[in-house]
Amino acid sequence: LVIVGASLAGLRAAETIRSEGWQGSVILVGDEEHPPYNRPPLSKDLLAGAHGLEQCAFECDLLDVEWRLGTAATALDVERREITLAGGERLPWSRLLIATGARARAWPGPEHELAGLFSIRTLDDALALRGAFADSPRVAIVGAGFIGCETAATARGLGLEVTLLDIASQPMMALGPELAARCAELHRSHGVELRLGVGVTKFEGAEQLGAVRLSDGTSVEADVAVIALGAVPNTEWLRSSGLQLQPGVACDTTLRALGAQDIFCAGDVAAWPHRLTGGDPIRIEHWSVAAQQGVVAGRNLVREDGELQAYDDWPAFWSDQYDVKIQSLGVPARAQRTLIVEQGDDHKLVAVGERDGEVVAVVAFNAPARLAWYRRQLSKSTRLDAVLDAIAARG
Ligand SMILES: Cc1cc2nc3c(=O)[nH]c(=O)nc-3n(C[C@H](O)[C@H](O)[C@H](O)COP(=O)(O)OP(=O)(O)OC[C@H]3O[C@@H](n4cnc5c(N)ncnc54)[C@H](O)[C@@H]3O)c2cc1C
Repeated sequence: LVIVGASLAGLRAAETIRSEGWQGSVILVGDEEHPPYNRPPLSKDLLAGAHGLEQCAFECDLLDVEWRLGTAATALDVERREITLAGGERLPWSRLLIATGARARAWPGPEHELAGLFSIRTLDDALALRGAFADSPRVAIVGAGFIGCETAATARGLGLEVTLLDIASQPMMALGPELAARCAELHRSHGVELRLGVGVTKFEGAEQLGAVRLSDGTSVEADVAVIALGAVPNTEWLRSSGLQLQPGVACDTTLRALGAQDIFCAGDVAAWPHRLTGGDPIRIEHWSVAAQQGVVAGRNLVREDGELQAYDDWPAFWSDQYDVKIQSLGVPARAQRTLIVEQGDDHKLVAVGERDGEVVAVVAFNAPARLAWYRRQLSKSTRLDAVLDAIAARG
């Protein structure tokens, strides 16, 4: 068995393969030099300096696998059942797991060589940014999605001057406009300058960044810019494989790559059909999805055809910004409207996202126990009226 991608999904798959009793060889190929580590702290505690490397590392010393770290897979030949590694070595497989995740979308302009531009996807990225933050720079964050917002919160926690930029009219727009407006207020109240509804046209500076030029003709002075423009799945090595890339690897509900008998996918790279999207493939970049899919794909790698397990959990994520823990269940971006159904002190709230009379998402701010209650309700019925009745009955 060969697993390509030595991070969360690949590691969970390898652990599962062993716990299922598979005795044969398992090879884990990863292009990073580091053993598998946890990414969420990279924009939070590690960036803030509150966590060291050891707190990000996953436990994997005792895992009985052959590690091929610092080695990228460069091509897949499905018919010959081989992958090619950087350097030209060919590695045969009987079953393959693709868990190559995603990378930060790079700034497309020519200034990407300018000192002071950072992204935040890998441990090395986060350590480099942490080093830059130590000089108390003025920070511009380009992209107000969840990584951009978390980075803004961390930078403010360090006392840095922060401008958060987005072409959208609010940060965290995937949560819907009502909750996005609350996120905007949260950042403003912590001293972040929000520049919304404007695009970045240019990064200016000789060798070192000095300012970020915006589409409205103004500019923001900055020594450091964090490019937080989302992520792109790592599928270039699969281009000649014949697998369907859209842009993640298209899979069925059992995470088996479409048209390939013995190839499975898991994590940020996988696009699989979900009932919340009407069966259309969706690629979700959440920690718990990568972890759960790693487990399911690991099991399916060592099972026979009739025993394959489907993956159909509701996607869940969390994001920590200042003293607010944002958690979501489902796909908030699918909602046609968002109803705030509970509110309390300390930013506490619960909102329900609805589409065609069905609940497609629940988002909670500082209300983890309530989210668990909604999860139980949704296992009984996803009809909005049924969920609202249950809320009313609870009082
Ligand atoms: C800064 C940050 C903060 C986050 N915070 C949260 C959070 O608070 N909550 C949440 O739910 N989610 C969060 N996430 C998302 C979560 O970490 C990801 O969903 C998860 O890491 C996905 O795991 P994965 O194994 O699918 O992919 P990845 O973690 O991307 O790992 C893929 C691995 O494959 C390697 N690889 C790529 N191409 C090749 C190749 N050709 N050959 C060999 N190896 C290759 C990559 O270098 C990488 O090591 C965060 C992500 C980041 C970057």
